[in-house]
Amino acid sequence: MTKKSRLNDQAKLKVVCDELCDNIEELFDHFDLEYKDHGKMISMACPIHEGDNEGALNLYVQGDNYRGNWKCRTHGCEQCFKGSIIGFVRGLLSNRKYQWSQEGDKTASFKETIDFITSFLKKDLNDIKVSKVARNKSKFTNAINHIKNSSKVSTENCLTRDRIRPLLKIPAEYYIDRNFSKDILDKYDVGLCDNPDREMYNRVVVPIYDIDYNYMIGCTGRSIFNKCDKCGSFHDPNKDCPEDRRKYLYSKWKHSANFKSQNSLYNYWFAKKHIQETGVVLLVESPGNVWKLEENGIHNSVGIFGSALSDRQKIMLDSSGAMTIIVLTDNDDAGRKAAEQIKEKCQNTYRIFIPQISKADVAEMDAEEIDREIKEYIKGVI
Ligand SMILES: [Zn+2]
Ligand SMILES: [Zn+2]
Repeated sequence: MTKKSRLNDQAKLKVVCDELCDNIEELFDHFDLEYKDHGKMISMACPIHEGDNEGALNLYVQGDNYRGNWKCRTHGCEQCFKGSIIGFVRGLLSNRKYQWSQEGDKTASFKETIDFITSFLKKDLNDIKVSKVARNKSKFTNAINHIKNSSKVSTENCLTRDRIRPLLKIPAEYYIDRNFSKDILDKYDVGLCDNPDREMYNRVVVPIYDIDYNYMIGCTGRSIFNKCDKCGSFHDPNKDCPEDRRKYLYSKWKHSANFKSQNSLYNYWFAKKHIQETGVVLLVESPGNVWKLEENGIHNSVGIFGSALSDRQKIMLDSSGAMTIIVLTDNDDAGRKAAEQIKEKCQNTYRIFIPQISKADVAEMDAEEIDREIKEYIKGVI
């Protein structure tokens, strides 16, 4: 094999990894895996050695250099199969086809793995194009297919608003204490979960609805506790710090099982009509910023659940009718980085504006500041 064709093979494998990551949910569904989405990372019980610790396997779904990388924290399964997404698939096939459970057991070959992947992606390795243009086109097709499929999702397990509200203490005291109005918390069904049997126990639950506002597609919950000085997680200060491997349960925000934040925009169900009318969308990081804008009569903001705009969120924006994006990420290093990422991703298709705000984030601004720093600004650019 010549050096050039080997390099080309490497580049193709990189594309295969990217394509697998674009279709990660379909891959999990194919193997019937239960997982939790933490935004940048997914966690699950390791399906390769079949462990039962639910946080044992971490797989990264964002980030250019480590997208698709995974780690099994209890058994180190990635050391047997390599830490790339291809290694992950190889591990899964080994477990499913040959009952692999530990080093020394029979494993699926690299060829078997690539054969599985190409048939799963419905692609011939020879047809895979490594150019950036081809890759972008493929990314777009993957996202469109995904959106088509997810709109067909069965609504059997989906909760309606009427069924969610009685499960929560609405409006949440936690946010009333942080200067949000009862009305706005009521409008968005924001309430405390005080049932110890539920996954959102001791969190303020923020439901996320589908585009048509018929069903809850997931929820995210803010811990009611402050950050612990000792361990950095957000647990009950009257209890001991959690062990390292259980810390992820005590994060500041936690998404409900199988909620995929990178496929949703918070508040899109209310905002879409206003985005269409104005051609303008305001992007913020978290739900609190949306509420604050909404309270002050700004109805066309959506939240990206963190500090990066995903490919799928971008495609939702592309179909929203927006032509102008006003980026209102937090006024800190992470927020400024997020604004740059959004600008880079969207500047070819949108007019982008990044106003400077005087507070740490939009949620901390009062009505007068919002008038002066945001409303006036919007008037100036449209
Ligand atoms: Zn494992
Ligand atoms: Zn602690």
